[in-house]
Formats: sequence, structure tokens, C-alpha cells
Amino acid sequence: MLILLRAGVIGLNVALVLAEKGYGRHTTVIAEHLPGDTSINYTSPWAGANFSAISASDPNALRWDKLGYMHLLSLAAKDGKNAFVKETPSVEYWDELPSREKIDSMAAYLKDFKEIATQDLPAGVAFGIKFTTITINAPMHLLYLLRKLTQEYGVQVIRKKLPRVSSGYLSKDTKVVFNCTGNAAKELPGVQDSKCFPTRGQILLARASHVQQNIMRHGKDYETYVIPRPYSNGNVILGGFMQKNVGTPDTFGEESESILTRTTDLLPALNSNETEVLGAFAGLRPSREGGARVARENVQVGDAGRRVVVVHNYGAGGTGYQAGYGMAVEAVNTVTEEINALDIQSHL
Ligand SMILES: Cc1cc2nc3c(=O)[nH]c(=O)nc-3n(C[C@H](O)[C@H](O)[C@H](O)COP(=O)(O)OP(=O)(O)OC[C@H]3O[C@@H](n4cnc5c(N)ncnc54)[C@H](O)[C@@H]3O)c2cc1C
Repeated sequence: MLILLRAGVIGLNVALVLAEKGYGRHTTVIAEHLPGDTSINYTSPWAGANFSAISASDPNALRWDKLGYMHLLSLAAKDGKNAFVKETPSVEYWDELPSREKIDSMAAYLKDFKEIATQDLPAGVAFGIKFTTITINAPMHLLYLLRKLTQEYGVQVIRKKLPRVSSGYLSKDTKVVFNCTGNAAKELPGVQDSKCFPTRGQILLARASHVQQNIMRHGKDYETYVIPRPYSNGNVILGGFMQKNVGTPDTFGEESESILTRTTDLLPALNSNETEVLGAFAGLRPSREGGARVARENVQVGDAGRRVVVVHNYGAGGTGYQAGYGMAVEAVNTVTEEINALDIQSHL
């Protein structure tokens, strides 16, 4: 009775939801890349990461964001230091008015939410908010999730590249496969979703221990952000870029310059002897036209045409950390019947 996933933040959150329901010992994570690895084909370690209004305004995105925020807020309060997540004051600015639905939705649940008075906005900014966000030390949070899953919940991990989704059915006991393959969903046989595309982001890792706030500016053709990296000895992530359909892992000097200029304009405190740029990196957000796909599919595998279930959960774009837990809850809910029917004892 194995349930198989992948090891980005999306797959690990599905494993967490299954483990919290008591199915940890019956869950196996199979992945080519695992926490601790870096690869352009493994997006999760490159994220900022924070909760922000960068996500879309459709009902799915609004729901997943809310579930994700509530989960991260509670994790920061209960186990923030171990999980590398922290409450952080945040300011977000828009050059053009954002959707009212989105702002109203966020206002209903974000801690300390406040709209900034028009006269207090910087030049060129049409709208701004303040709230308490959650910042996440992405590479360390992935390691935390893996450790928690394996050591506390008994989840098994196999490092392996699978040639197709159906290869996840390791035996006749495998009932459900969760397909959380990120950018690979575009090419992976059994998925081959032509709506998927990468959105490249270049970022700078800098040391700036005097910066303790998150700040973002959403422009028409740009995203500029400063995200303190929690429990990291004073590091911050400076960004960024949202380049649709660009898949290069290379980093470019002029993009680093652009990031430094824009972030220093946004947060003049960065212009200090205490700020030291440590490196430039690029990652590919797994984007999808119309938003992420969280849906079950009944398929047949093997010569005998055995009926099994694949649950797709990919296409999180720039929101895998903030929305990942919400997406995982809904992905698992699509197979409640199959999971309840498993012939196992809950280990809660
Ligand atoms: C610069 C940048 C900044 C970002 N900032 C934020 C932020 O502030 N907040 C936020 O919420 N999000 C942010 N994101 C987005 C976030 O990082 C992604 O949404 C998230 O990492 C996607 O996770 P994933 O699990 O879908 O994909 P991945 O992390 O790519 O994981 C995919 C997994 O599937 C495995 N896999 C794929 N194919 C196979 C196969 N055939 N066989 C076996 N294993 C396979 C891989 O090895 C890997 O384990 C940012 C991203 C970037 C690039």
C-alpha cells in the first residue's frame, strides 16, 4: 500500500498531510532530487521564500494561499526555529491597482493587515499594504521536512528518476501515486502537459543582518523584493525576475546589477557597508497556464490494465511555499475514499 510522491516542497507537503493523517509508514517519496541537492531541474531550493500577494486572484489561488498562510503561521509559532520559518513584518507595493477580490481575501486572514494611506506611498506606487508575513529559509526548510517525515513519521525515501508516471506503481499494493514533478510535468510520459512552462528568476544571496523586514514592489514588467532569510546568520534574498518561458540556469551580471539597483531604491538601508553580496543564482518556477493542476485521474497500468489513481499536483509557479500546504490538503482530499479503504492501521 504505497503512496508515492516527489521531493520538492509540493511533494513533501503532500507527504506531510498524509503523515499527519497517520499514513506516514505507508508513504514512499521517490525523487531524482532530494533536499540538500541543487539542480536547475529542482526548483525548491532556489526560492526566496515568503508569503506574498504574488499569486493569482482566482478562487483556487485565494483558497490555497489562505490554507498555506494559516499552516505556516501556526508552524512559526510552534516550531519556527527548527522549521526555519519566521513571522516577519512586510510591506508590498503595486504600481497598478491589484484585484480588489485578492486584497479583500487577504485582508480577512493576514495578521496585522493594513492598507497604506495614499499620501504615504512612494512615487509611482498606486497601492500598498502592511502585514505580518512568514519568511522561509527554503533549503533548510526542505531538510526539516525530510527529517520530520523520515524520523518522526516513518516515511520511506528512494532516490530514483522514473521514466514515466506509471513507473511509480512499484507493486500491486501501490494504490495512489501523487505526481508532484514541477517543471518535469511538461515532458514526463503519462503527463505531458503542454500548459506548463518555466518562469526564470535570478536572485542574489547577500549578507545584510541589519535588514529585518520583507519588502516587495510588483511592477508592470518587473518584481523587486527583499526577503530576510530566517535563522541564517543575517542573509537576505534580493530579487528578482519573472521571465516566462526562459529556461537557462545561467546567471547574468546585468541582471545582478538591476537587482541591486532596484532593491536599494526600494530599501535604502541596503546601501550600507554591512551589505555583502555572496552570490547570484537562477531557478525556474514551474508555471502553468490557468494555474496549478490539483486533480485526480483514474488510469490503468500494466498488461492486466489494473485500475489505479494518479493525483496531479504541479504548476505552483512562484507560490509553492506559500500555497503548498493548501494544495496538498486538497490533493489528499481527492482520494479520501481510496486512502480510507487501505487495509492498514492509522499510526497517529
Ligand atoms: C527565484 C525563485 C523565487 C521563489 N520565491 C518563492 C517565494 O517567495 N514563495 C513561494 O511560495 N514560492 C517561491 N518560489 C516558487 C517555488 O520555489 C516553487 O513553486 C516550488 O519550489 C515548486 O516546487 P515543486 O515541488 O513543484 O517542484 P520542484 O522543487 O522542482 O520538485 C520537483 C521534484 O520532482 C522530482 N522529479 C521530477 N521528475 C522526476 C522523475 N521523472 N523521476 C523522479 N523524480 C522526479 C524532482 O527530482 C524533485 O524532487 C520561487 C521560485 C524561484 C525560482
